[in-house]
Amino acid sequence: MSELNPFAIAQQQLDEAAQRLGLDAATHEFLRWPMREYHFTLPLKMDNGVTRIFKGYRVQYNCARGPTKGGLRWHPEETIDTVRALAAWMTWKTAVVDIPLGGGKGGITCNPKELTEGEKERLARTYIRAVGRELGVHRDVPAPDVYTTPQIMAWMLDEYEILVGHSHPGMITGKPLAVGGSQGRGDATARGGVYCVREAAKALNINVSRATYAIQGFGNAGQFAATLHPEILGGGTLLAASDSRGGVFSKEGIDPKALVRHKLETGSVINFPGTKPISNEELLELQVDVLYPSALEGVITSRNANNIKAKVMCELANGPTTPEADKILFQKGVYVLPDFLANAGGVTVSYFEQVQNTYNYYWSLEDVHRQLDRKMTDAYHAVWEMSKKTKAHNRLVAYMVAVSRVAEACKIRGWV
Ligand code: NAD
Repeated sequence: MSELNPFAIAQQQLDEAAQRLGLDAATHEFLRWPMREYHFTLPLKMDNGVTRIFKGYRVQYNCARGPTKGGLRWHPEETIDTVRALAAWMTWKTAVVDIPLGGGKGGITCNPKELTEGEKERLARTYIRAVGRELGVHRDVPAPDVYTTPQIMAWMLDEYEILVGHSHPGMITGKPLAVGGSQGRGDATARGGVYCVREAAKALNINVSRATYAIQGFGNAGQFAATLHPEILGGGTLLAASDSRGGVFSKEGIDPKALVRHKLETGSVINFPGTKPISNEELLELQVDVLYPSALEGVITSRNANNIKAKVMCELANGPTTPEADKILFQKGVYVLPDFLANAGGVTVSYFEQVQNTYNYYWSLEDVHRQLDRKMTDAYHAVWEMSKKTKAHNRLVAYMVAVSRVAEACKIRGWV
Protein backbone atom coordinates (compact mmCIF):
# COMPACT_ATOMS: atom_id res chain seq x y z
CA MET A 1 0.00 0.00 0.00
CA SER A 2 1.22 3.55 -0.67
CA GLU A 3 2.72 5.99 1.86
CA LEU A 4 -0.67 7.69 1.94
CA ASN A 5 -3.07 4.77 2.58
CA PRO A 6 -4.34 5.81 6.02
CA PHE A 7 -5.04 2.28 7.26
CA ALA A 8 -1.59 1.07 6.18
CA ILE A 9 -0.21 4.03 8.12
CA ALA A 10 -2.30 3.18 11.21
CA GLN A 11 -1.06 -0.43 11.09
CA GLN A 12 2.54 0.65 10.60
CA GLN A 13 2.31 2.99 13.61
CA LEU A 14 0.87 0.17 15.73
CA ASP A 15 3.59 -2.26 14.53
CA GLU A 16 6.30 0.08 15.73
CA ALA A 17 4.66 0.53 19.15
CA ALA A 18 4.02 -3.22 19.49
CA GLN A 19 7.67 -3.91 18.80
CA ARG A 20 8.88 -1.30 21.33
CA LEU A 21 6.44 -2.66 23.95
CA GLY A 22 7.45 -6.27 23.25
CA LEU A 23 3.76 -7.14 22.67
CA ASP A 24 3.07 -10.85 22.10
CA ALA A 25 2.22 -11.89 18.52
CA ALA A 26 -1.48 -12.69 19.10
CA THR A 27 -2.28 -9.38 20.85
CA HIS A 28 -0.38 -7.48 18.18
CA GLU A 29 -2.24 -9.22 15.32
CA PHE A 30 -5.60 -8.76 17.10
CA LEU A 31 -5.01 -5.01 17.45
CA ARG A 32 -4.03 -4.64 13.77
CA TRP A 33 -7.63 -5.23 12.59
CA PRO A 34 -11.15 -3.97 13.32
CA MET A 35 -13.20 -6.38 15.46
CA ARG A 36 -16.30 -5.66 13.30
CA GLU A 37 -17.20 -3.63 10.26
CA TYR A 38 -20.40 -2.94 8.36
CA HIS A 39 -20.82 -1.90 4.71
CA PHE A 40 -24.11 -0.39 3.56
CA THR A 41 -25.65 0.41 0.20
CA LEU A 42 -27.88 3.41 0.82
CA PRO A 43 -30.59 4.52 -1.62
CA LEU A 44 -31.48 8.22 -1.43
CA LYS A 45 -34.46 9.82 -3.13
CA MET A 46 -33.17 13.17 -4.41
CA ASP A 47 -35.37 16.29 -4.49
CA ASN A 48 -35.74 15.89 -8.28
CA GLY A 49 -37.28 12.42 -7.86
CA VAL A 50 -34.21 10.47 -9.06
CA THR A 51 -32.85 7.82 -6.67
CA ARG A 52 -29.07 7.82 -6.12
CA ILE A 53 -27.09 5.06 -4.41
CA PHE A 54 -24.42 5.86 -1.80
CA LYS A 55 -21.89 3.68 0.05
CA GLY A 56 -21.85 3.84 3.86
CA TYR A 57 -19.64 2.27 6.53
CA ARG A 58 -19.37 1.74 10.27
CA VAL A 59 -16.25 0.21 11.80
CA GLN A 60 -16.19 -0.93 15.44
CA TYR A 61 -12.47 -1.29 15.87
CA ASN A 62 -12.03 -2.38 19.48
CA CYS A 63 -14.40 -2.47 22.47
CA ALA A 64 -12.13 -3.97 25.16
CA ARG A 65 -12.18 -0.76 27.26
CA GLY A 66 -15.84 0.09 26.65
CA PRO A 67 -18.48 0.77 23.96
CA THR A 68 -17.00 1.93 20.66
CA LYS A 69 -17.11 5.64 19.96
CA GLY A 70 -16.28 7.72 16.91
CA GLY A 71 -17.46 10.25 14.37
CA LEU A 72 -19.25 10.02 11.06
CA ARG A 73 -17.55 11.60 8.07
CA TRP A 74 -19.42 12.54 4.88
CA HIS A 75 -16.80 13.11 2.24
CA PRO A 76 -16.49 12.38 -1.52
CA GLU A 77 -13.15 10.60 -0.95
CA GLU A 78 -14.33 8.49 1.98
CA THR A 79 -13.16 4.86 1.68
CA ILE A 80 -13.32 1.85 3.97
CA ASP A 81 -9.57 2.21 4.61
CA THR A 82 -10.01 5.81 5.79
CA VAL A 83 -12.78 4.69 8.13
CA ARG A 84 -10.70 1.75 9.43
CA ALA A 85 -7.76 4.06 10.12
CA LEU A 86 -9.92 6.64 11.86
CA ALA A 87 -11.54 3.87 13.95
CA ALA A 88 -8.11 2.57 14.98
CA TRP A 89 -7.00 6.09 15.92
CA MET A 90 -10.20 6.49 18.00
CA THR A 91 -9.22 3.34 19.91
CA TRP A 92 -5.83 4.83 20.80
CA LYS A 93 -7.37 8.24 21.46
CA THR A 94 -9.91 7.08 24.06
CA ALA A 95 -7.14 5.03 25.68
CA VAL A 96 -4.57 7.84 25.83
CA VAL A 97 -7.06 10.19 27.56
CA ASP A 98 -8.14 7.25 29.70
CA ILE A 99 -11.90 7.35 29.16
CA PRO A 100 -13.85 4.06 29.40
CA LEU A 101 -14.65 3.72 25.69
CA GLY A 102 -13.35 1.86 22.66
CA GLY A 103 -12.84 3.15 19.12
CA GLY A 104 -15.12 3.25 16.10
CA LYS A 105 -15.79 5.41 13.06
CA GLY A 106 -18.27 5.65 10.20
CA GLY A 107 -18.98 7.51 7.06
CA ILE A 108 -20.77 7.91 3.78
CA THR A 109 -19.00 8.49 0.47
CA CYS A 110 -20.85 11.62 -0.68
CA ASN A 111 -20.40 15.32 -1.22
CA PRO A 112 -22.70 17.08 1.26
CA LYS A 113 -21.99 20.42 -0.46
CA GLU A 114 -24.06 19.09 -3.38
CA LEU A 115 -26.98 17.93 -1.20
CA THR A 116 -29.97 20.03 -0.11
CA GLU A 117 -31.02 20.11 3.55
CA GLY A 118 -33.89 17.74 2.76
CA GLU A 119 -31.55 15.28 1.02
CA LYS A 120 -29.10 15.41 3.95
CA GLU A 121 -31.93 14.68 6.39
CA ARG A 122 -33.12 11.67 4.36
CA LEU A 123 -29.55 10.37 4.00
CA ALA A 124 -28.98 10.69 7.77
CA ARG A 125 -32.20 8.78 8.50
CA THR A 126 -31.42 6.11 5.87
CA TYR A 127 -27.99 5.55 7.43
CA ILE A 128 -29.52 5.09 10.89
CA ARG A 129 -32.09 2.63 9.56
CA ALA A 130 -29.17 0.60 8.18
CA VAL A 131 -26.85 0.70 11.23
CA GLY A 132 -29.25 1.49 14.12
CA ARG A 133 -29.39 -2.03 15.55
CA GLU A 134 -25.65 -1.96 16.12
CA LEU A 135 -25.69 1.40 17.99
CA GLY A 136 -26.60 2.47 21.54
CA VAL A 137 -24.97 3.93 24.62
CA HIS A 138 -23.70 0.48 25.65
CA ARG A 139 -22.66 -0.61 22.12
CA ASP A 140 -21.42 2.09 19.78
CA VAL A 141 -21.91 5.87 19.84
CA PRO A 142 -21.37 8.06 16.73
CA ALA A 143 -20.56 11.80 16.67
CA PRO A 144 -19.83 14.51 14.06
CA ASP A 145 -16.68 14.55 11.95
CA VAL A 146 -15.75 16.24 8.67
CA TYR A 147 -18.84 17.72 6.96
CA THR A 148 -21.35 16.34 9.49
CA THR A 149 -23.05 18.73 11.91
CA PRO A 150 -25.07 18.90 15.16
CA GLN A 151 -28.22 19.13 12.97
CA ILE A 152 -27.31 15.81 11.29
CA MET A 153 -26.77 14.29 14.76
CA ALA A 154 -30.28 15.50 15.79
CA TRP A 155 -31.91 13.84 12.74
CA MET A 156 -30.00 10.64 13.48
CA LEU A 157 -31.09 10.68 17.14
CA ASP A 158 -34.69 11.20 16.09
CA GLU A 159 -34.60 8.30 13.61
CA TYR A 160 -32.94 6.04 16.18
CA GLU A 161 -35.59 6.83 18.82
CA ILE A 162 -38.33 6.02 16.28
CA LEU A 163 -36.55 2.69 15.66
CA VAL A 164 -36.20 1.68 19.34
CA GLY A 165 -39.39 3.33 20.58
CA HIS A 166 -37.99 5.25 23.53
CA SER A 167 -35.79 8.21 24.45
CA HIS A 168 -32.07 7.40 24.16
CA PRO A 169 -30.10 10.66 23.85
CA GLY A 170 -26.74 9.05 24.69
CA MET A 171 -26.75 7.01 21.44
CA ILE A 172 -25.07 9.88 19.59
CA THR A 173 -23.02 12.91 20.70
CA GLY A 174 -22.28 16.34 19.28
CA LYS A 175 -26.02 17.03 19.43
CA PRO A 176 -27.52 20.52 19.66
CA LEU A 177 -28.16 21.62 23.28
CA ALA A 178 -31.94 21.45 22.70
CA VAL A 179 -31.82 17.64 22.33
CA GLY A 180 -29.26 16.73 25.02
CA GLY A 181 -25.98 18.16 23.74
CA SER A 182 -23.26 19.22 26.18
CA GLN A 183 -22.07 22.70 26.92
CA GLY A 184 -18.58 23.14 25.49
CA ARG A 185 -18.74 20.43 22.78
CA GLY A 186 -18.39 22.88 19.88
CA ASP A 187 -14.87 24.06 20.66
CA ALA A 188 -13.72 21.00 22.65
CA THR A 189 -11.33 19.57 20.04
CA ALA A 190 -9.46 22.83 19.57
CA ARG A 191 -9.56 23.66 23.29
CA GLY A 192 -8.00 20.28 24.17
CA GLY A 193 -5.28 20.88 21.55
CA VAL A 194 -4.47 24.34 22.92
CA TYR A 195 -4.29 22.90 26.48
CA CYS A 196 -1.66 20.46 25.13
CA VAL A 197 0.25 23.34 23.49
CA ARG A 198 0.19 25.18 26.85
CA GLU A 199 1.65 22.14 28.66
CA ALA A 200 4.23 21.50 25.91
CA ALA A 201 5.32 25.15 25.97
CA LYS A 202 5.93 24.91 29.72
CA ALA A 203 7.97 21.73 29.23
CA LEU A 204 9.95 23.21 26.33
CA ASN A 205 10.33 26.70 27.84
CA ILE A 206 8.60 28.49 24.96
CA ASN A 207 7.09 31.89 25.71
CA VAL A 208 3.68 31.23 24.16
CA SER A 209 2.23 34.63 24.89
CA ARG A 210 4.52 36.01 22.15
CA ALA A 211 4.36 33.00 19.83
CA THR A 212 3.30 33.05 16.18
CA TYR A 213 0.93 30.42 14.81
CA ALA A 214 -0.71 29.21 11.59
CA ILE A 215 -3.81 27.12 10.89
CA GLN A 216 -4.15 24.75 7.95
CA GLY A 217 -7.89 23.94 7.51
CA PHE A 218 -10.16 26.70 8.80
CA GLY A 219 -13.17 24.53 9.68
CA ASN A 220 -14.65 23.64 13.06
CA ALA A 221 -11.38 22.60 14.71
CA GLY A 222 -9.23 25.21 12.94
CA GLN A 223 -11.47 28.24 13.60
CA PHE A 224 -11.77 27.52 17.30
CA ALA A 225 -8.00 26.93 17.55
CA ALA A 226 -7.46 30.35 15.95
CA THR A 227 -9.53 32.16 18.58
CA LEU A 228 -8.72 29.96 21.62
CA HIS A 229 -4.94 30.02 21.11
CA PRO A 230 -4.52 33.66 22.28
CA GLU A 231 -7.34 33.34 24.83
CA ILE A 232 -5.86 30.31 26.65
CA LEU A 233 -2.18 31.15 26.15
CA GLY A 234 -2.49 34.84 26.96
CA GLY A 235 -1.37 36.07 23.54
CA GLY A 236 0.08 35.02 20.18
CA THR A 237 -0.05 36.20 16.57
CA LEU A 238 -1.94 34.37 13.83
CA LEU A 239 0.21 34.65 10.68
CA ALA A 240 -1.75 32.49 8.23
CA ALA A 241 -4.84 30.32 7.72
CA SER A 242 -6.20 28.25 4.85
CA ASP A 243 -9.14 26.16 3.69
CA SER A 244 -9.93 24.03 0.64
CA ARG A 245 -10.10 27.17 -1.56
CA GLY A 246 -6.70 28.62 -0.55
CA GLY A 247 -4.95 30.54 2.21
CA VAL A 248 -4.15 34.02 3.54
CA PHE A 249 -0.97 35.39 5.14
CA SER A 250 0.02 38.60 6.92
CA LYS A 251 3.35 39.12 8.67
CA GLU A 252 1.73 41.80 10.86
CA GLY A 253 -0.80 39.23 12.07
CA ILE A 254 -4.47 38.46 11.37
CA ASP A 255 -7.36 39.14 13.75
CA PRO A 256 -8.70 35.58 14.31
CA LYS A 257 -12.24 36.65 15.24
CA ALA A 258 -12.54 38.89 12.16
CA LEU A 259 -11.25 36.03 9.98
CA VAL A 260 -13.91 33.69 11.44
CA ARG A 261 -16.60 36.28 10.58
CA HIS A 262 -15.19 36.62 7.04
CA LYS A 263 -15.25 32.82 6.59
CA LEU A 264 -18.86 32.70 7.82
CA GLU A 265 -19.93 35.48 5.47
CA THR A 266 -18.02 34.42 2.34
CA GLY A 267 -17.52 30.66 2.82
CA SER A 268 -13.72 30.95 2.70
CA VAL A 269 -10.70 32.67 4.25
CA ILE A 270 -9.53 33.88 0.83
CA ASN A 271 -9.60 37.62 0.05
CA PHE A 272 -9.53 38.60 3.74
CA PRO A 273 -8.61 42.32 3.73
CA GLY A 274 -4.98 43.17 4.54
CA THR A 275 -3.61 39.71 3.69
CA LYS A 276 -1.69 38.12 0.82
CA PRO A 277 -2.68 34.79 -0.74
CA ILE A 278 -0.67 31.73 0.32
CA SER A 279 -1.01 28.13 -0.85
CA ASN A 280 -1.72 25.30 1.57
CA GLU A 281 1.75 23.88 0.86
CA GLU A 282 3.48 27.20 1.62
CA LEU A 283 1.47 27.63 4.82
CA LEU A 284 2.70 24.31 6.19
CA GLU A 285 6.31 25.39 5.60
CA LEU A 286 6.04 28.82 7.28
CA GLN A 287 8.42 29.88 10.05
CA VAL A 288 5.99 29.84 13.02
CA ASP A 289 6.17 28.74 16.63
CA VAL A 290 3.00 26.64 16.49
CA LEU A 291 1.48 24.99 13.42
CA TYR A 292 -2.03 23.52 13.63
CA PRO A 293 -2.73 21.07 10.75
CA SER A 294 -6.54 21.02 10.99
CA ALA A 295 -7.82 19.75 7.63
CA LEU A 296 -7.38 16.19 6.39
CA GLU A 297 -4.87 13.33 6.53
CA GLY A 298 -1.61 12.86 4.60
CA VAL A 299 -0.46 16.49 4.19
CA ILE A 300 2.98 16.16 5.79
CA THR A 301 4.96 13.46 4.03
CA SER A 302 8.58 12.56 3.24
CA ARG A 303 8.35 15.19 0.43
CA ASN A 304 7.78 18.25 2.62
CA ALA A 305 8.70 17.20 6.20
CA ASN A 306 12.21 18.59 5.81
CA ASN A 307 10.76 22.02 5.07
CA ILE A 308 8.57 22.23 8.19
CA LYS A 309 9.94 25.04 10.38
CA ALA A 310 7.41 25.12 13.24
CA LYS A 311 8.72 24.53 16.77
CA VAL A 312 5.52 22.78 17.89
CA MET A 313 3.04 21.04 15.62
CA CYS A 314 -0.37 20.46 17.17
CA GLU A 315 -2.25 17.96 15.01
CA LEU A 316 -5.93 18.80 15.29
CA ALA A 317 -6.61 16.85 12.07
CA ASN A 318 -6.53 13.09 12.15
CA GLY A 319 -3.52 11.55 10.40
CA PRO A 320 -1.90 14.64 8.84
CA THR A 321 1.63 13.17 9.14
CA THR A 322 2.95 9.97 7.54
CA PRO A 323 5.35 7.65 9.45
CA GLU A 324 8.23 8.62 7.12
CA ALA A 325 7.57 12.29 7.88
CA ASP A 326 7.43 11.56 11.63
CA LYS A 327 11.02 10.33 11.60
CA ILE A 328 12.22 13.39 9.68
CA LEU A 329 10.37 15.79 12.02
CA PHE A 330 11.85 14.05 15.07
CA GLN A 331 15.38 14.38 13.65
CA LYS A 332 14.76 18.06 12.88
CA GLY A 333 13.55 18.67 16.43
CA VAL A 334 9.95 19.62 15.54
CA TYR A 335 7.90 18.84 18.67
CA VAL A 336 4.79 17.00 17.45
CA LEU A 337 1.64 16.77 19.56
CA PRO A 338 0.23 13.70 17.80
CA ASP A 339 -3.36 13.71 16.54
CA PHE A 340 -4.90 11.19 18.88
CA LEU A 341 -3.59 13.15 21.87
CA ALA A 342 -3.91 16.69 20.49
CA ASN A 343 -7.47 16.33 19.15
CA ALA A 344 -8.82 14.10 21.95
CA GLY A 345 -10.73 17.02 23.50
CA GLY A 346 -13.64 16.36 21.13
CA VAL A 347 -14.18 12.76 22.17
CA THR A 348 -13.58 13.65 25.81
CA VAL A 349 -16.46 16.16 25.83
CA SER A 350 -18.50 13.68 23.77
CA TYR A 351 -17.92 11.24 26.61
CA PHE A 352 -19.04 13.93 29.09
CA GLU A 353 -22.16 14.36 26.93
CA GLN A 354 -22.90 10.60 27.14
CA VAL A 355 -22.40 10.70 30.92
CA GLN A 356 -24.79 13.68 31.27
CA ASN A 357 -27.38 11.98 29.01
CA THR A 358 -27.21 8.81 31.09
CA TYR A 359 -27.56 10.72 34.40
CA ASN A 360 -30.10 13.09 32.83
CA TYR A 361 -28.31 15.87 34.71
CA TYR A 362 -26.39 18.60 32.87
CA TRP A 363 -23.13 20.37 33.76
CA SER A 364 -22.21 24.06 33.51
CA LEU A 365 -19.74 25.26 30.88
CA GLU A 366 -17.18 25.91 33.65
CA ASP A 367 -17.50 22.29 34.85
CA VAL A 368 -16.94 20.99 31.30
CA HIS A 369 -13.85 23.19 30.82
CA ARG A 370 -12.39 22.20 34.19
CA GLN A 371 -12.89 18.46 33.61
CA LEU A 372 -11.54 18.70 30.05
CA ASP A 373 -8.45 20.58 31.20
CA ARG A 374 -7.77 17.91 33.80
CA LYS A 375 -8.14 15.02 31.31
CA MET A 376 -5.97 16.67 28.63
CA THR A 377 -3.29 17.79 31.08
CA ASP A 378 -3.08 14.29 32.60
CA ALA A 379 -2.90 12.71 29.13
CA TYR A 380 -0.16 15.11 28.01
CA HIS A 381 1.90 14.35 31.12
CA ALA A 382 1.47 10.55 30.77
CA VAL A 383 3.01 10.91 27.29
CA TRP A 384 5.69 13.34 28.50
CA GLU A 385 6.76 10.96 31.31
CA MET A 386 6.95 8.00 28.91
CA SER A 387 8.94 10.11 26.40
CA LYS A 388 11.60 10.82 29.01
CA LYS A 389 12.06 7.06 29.46
CA THR A 390 11.97 5.97 25.80
CA LYS A 391 13.54 8.87 23.87
CA ALA A 392 11.27 8.05 20.91
CA HIS A 393 9.17 10.50 18.86
CA ASN A 394 5.96 11.63 20.54
CA ARG A 395 3.56 9.69 18.33
CA LEU A 396 5.33 6.43 19.12
CA VAL A 397 5.35 7.33 22.80
CA ALA A 398 1.61 8.17 22.79
CA TYR A 399 0.98 4.86 20.98
CA MET A 400 2.93 3.01 23.64
CA VAL A 401 0.80 4.55 26.41
CA ALA A 402 -2.47 3.81 24.55
CA VAL A 403 -1.67 0.38 23.12
CA SER A 404 -0.47 -0.94 26.47
CA ARG A 405 -3.81 0.14 28.04
CA VAL A 406 -5.92 -1.51 25.30
CA ALA A 407 -3.73 -4.65 25.31
CA GLU A 408 -4.14 -4.94 29.08
CA ALA A 409 -7.97 -4.79 28.76
CA CYS A 410 -7.93 -7.45 25.98
CA LYS A 411 -5.78 -9.72 28.11
CA ILE A 412 -7.77 -9.25 31.34
CA ARG A 413 -10.90 -10.20 29.39
CA GLY A 414 -9.15 -13.39 28.28
CA TRP A 415 -9.34 -12.53 24.56
CA VAL A 416 -5.66 -12.99 23.81
P1 NAD B 1 -14.66 20.77 9.01
O1 NAD B 1 -15.38 20.15 7.90
O2 NAD B 1 -15.38 21.70 9.92
O3 NAD B 1 -13.39 21.57 8.47
C1 NAD B 1 -12.47 21.07 7.57
C2 NAD B 1 -11.78 22.28 6.96
O4 NAD B 1 -10.68 21.84 6.17
C3 NAD B 1 -12.68 23.11 6.04
O5 NAD B 1 -12.50 24.49 6.30
C4 NAD B 1 -12.16 22.78 4.64
O6 NAD B 1 -12.31 23.87 3.74
C5 NAD B 1 -10.70 22.55 4.94
N1 NAD B 1 -10.02 21.76 3.93
C6 NAD B 1 -10.48 20.69 3.22
N2 NAD B 1 -9.53 20.27 2.37
C7 NAD B 1 -8.46 21.09 2.55
C8 NAD B 1 -7.19 21.16 1.96
N3 NAD B 1 -6.82 20.30 1.01
N4 NAD B 1 -6.34 22.12 2.41
C9 NAD B 1 -6.70 22.99 3.37
N5 NAD B 1 -7.91 22.98 3.96
C10 NAD B 1 -8.76 22.03 3.55
O7 NAD B 1 -13.99 19.56 9.82
P2 NAD B 1 -13.44 19.54 11.30
O8 NAD B 1 -14.48 18.98 12.17
O9 NAD B 1 -12.80 20.86 11.66
O10 NAD B 1 -12.30 18.43 11.14
C11 NAD B 1 -11.00 18.75 10.65
C12 NAD B 1 -10.03 17.66 11.06
O11 NAD B 1 -10.07 17.55 12.48
C13 NAD B 1 -10.38 16.26 10.52
O12 NAD B 1 -9.19 15.53 10.29
C14 NAD B 1 -11.15 15.64 11.66
O13 NAD B 1 -11.11 14.22 11.62
C15 NAD B 1 -10.37 16.21 12.83
N6 NAD B 1 -11.12 16.17 14.08
C16 NAD B 1 -12.23 16.93 14.26
C17 NAD B 1 -12.92 16.85 15.47
C18 NAD B 1 -14.10 17.71 15.77
O14 NAD B 1 -14.62 17.63 16.88
N7 NAD B 1 -14.53 18.57 14.87
C19 NAD B 1 -12.47 15.97 16.46
C20 NAD B 1 -11.31 15.23 16.26
C21 NAD B 1 -10.65 15.34 15.04
